[in-house]
Amino acid sequence: MKVGILALQGAFAVHEEMLQSLGAETVQVRTTQDLELVDALVMPGGESTTMSHLLTTSQLFDPIAERINNAMPVFGTCAGMILLAKSIADGRPDQRFYGAIDIDVQRNAYGRQVESFETELQVAGLQTPFHAMFIRAPQVVRLGGDVEVLSTHEDKVVLARQGPVMVASFHPELTSDNRIHSLFLQEV
Ligand code: GLN
Repeated sequence: MKVGILALQGAFAVHEEMLQSLGAETVQVRTTQDLELVDALVMPGGESTTMSHLLTTSQLFDPIAERINNAMPVFGTCAGMILLAKSIADGRPDQRFYGAIDIDVQRNAYGRQVESFETELQVAGLQTPFHAMFIRAPQVVRLGGDVEVLSTHEDKVVLARQGPVMVASFHPELTSDNRIHSLFLQEV
């Protein structure tokens, strides 16, 4: 079993280290050939508009959509969460996304880079709190009925799952705590 990390832009290297710390075999995905090697995919934080553009120019957008339709497990963090949402409240008009999980998100809803923050989250399935970093994070502004909420922060959903699709509005890869990646790998 191989886990891919979308490696067009953003914080992909730290995700890879974390997955490897859990014993997963990893592949950095930049081409359709790379995609064919993987059984699951992580979409990292970064800049969702840039990722959308690079997904189009690399011709990876549609093959990934097809894999998601065929139930490939996928985990999107921050910008990756935006890419997986059903609708983006303030996306750019040309921004493409997958609609893989029944949530609407608002980009940068927690404010600018300087308003980035860290907090302790209670997470379903974890015994002790998870230290989470939010960096220009998206906010879930609508949640579909079939979406399982795994964590909230001040009444906003920050970690959720629908079938094989998991999303986090924060950056679980930026700590030394690999428990959220472990939750994802349980689904793979
Ligand atoms: N604000 C970024 C976006 O819209 C996401 C920020 C992040 O991934 N840390 O894509």
